[in-house]
Amino acid sequence: LLQQLLQSQKMESIGRLAGGIAHDFNNALGGMLGYIELAREKLPKESAIQDDLHEIGTLAQRSAKLTQQLLAFARKDVASPRLIRLNREIEKQLSMLRRITRDSVEISWTPAPHDFVIHLDPSQLSQIIMNLCINAQDAIEGSGTIDIATYAAHGSPPYASGAGLQKQVPLQKYVQLTVRDTGSGMDKTTLSSIFEPFFTTKEVGRGTGLGLSTVYGIMRQNSGFIDVESNPGTGTTFKLYFPVHEEKQLPLEEAAPKQQLPPQ
Ligand code: ADP
Repeated sequence: LLQQLLQSQKMESIGRLAGGIAHDFNNALGGMLGYIELAREKLPKESAIQDDLHEIGTLAQRSAKLTQQLLAFARKDVASPRLIRLNREIEKQLSMLRRITRDSVEISWTPAPHDFVIHLDPSQLSQIIMNLCINAQDAIEGSGTIDIATYAAHGSPPYASGAGLQKQVPLQKYVQLTVRDTGSGMDKTTLSSIFEPFFTTKEVGRGTGLGLSTVYGIMRQNSGFIDVESNPGTGTTFKLYFPVHEEKQLPLEEAAPKQQLPPQ
């Protein structure tokens, strides 16, 4: 218990320290990414400088990932959850996700036929999806696929591996968000540590080890669950379960049924 307390105090102070710096830095990086895009649009496609700019963009995205992770730590106490439609929120992020992933990595999207309402800060959802997709991309050597899907979850969700969540699960409907990749997968030893803060198998400068612990923290904060299946060689599937909220709690204009996008 003391260990846990120390751990959470450590994370809190890191969060507060980092939050101040990360916020401004993140804004600067956002501007940088924008100008890189602009420069690439102005240059002819076949220009040799395109590749250099692409590299700069990738590095800036990596830095943005780091600062966003630090921000997520700092922001922990001031998340503003609200009622959102899961499919709709994911769809808002798809084009950005496709833009920041390599061309050789395909992102597919299969929404559940019903767009469930959940209670979550949209920026936390974005954090979750970004972290899972960037990890998926990192695990894919050469070309591969990241499948994002939502399902109506039946029955109680499984418990997070080693997550200390073996309490009684309340009777509650869940919607499942799945992010599956065709990457390298993980062995059992790696798998057992992935939710620990600062655990990373990536080289210095490429990984902070904060991504999955942030995702885990967000899920726990919002009464959700996370489960992972992974096999070396075949890939990894993260399954996240969010409690479903009553439709009638949504403001009227939001409650209108949404036109379903066809799966891509
Ligand atoms: P980071 O990405 O900075 O290393 P994370 O907490 O996001 O930190 O991930 C921790 C570790 O979990 C990664 O270093 C990697 O070894 C492993 N991992 C996470 N997602 C995947 C995935 N989709 N496929 C294979 N390994 C993964």
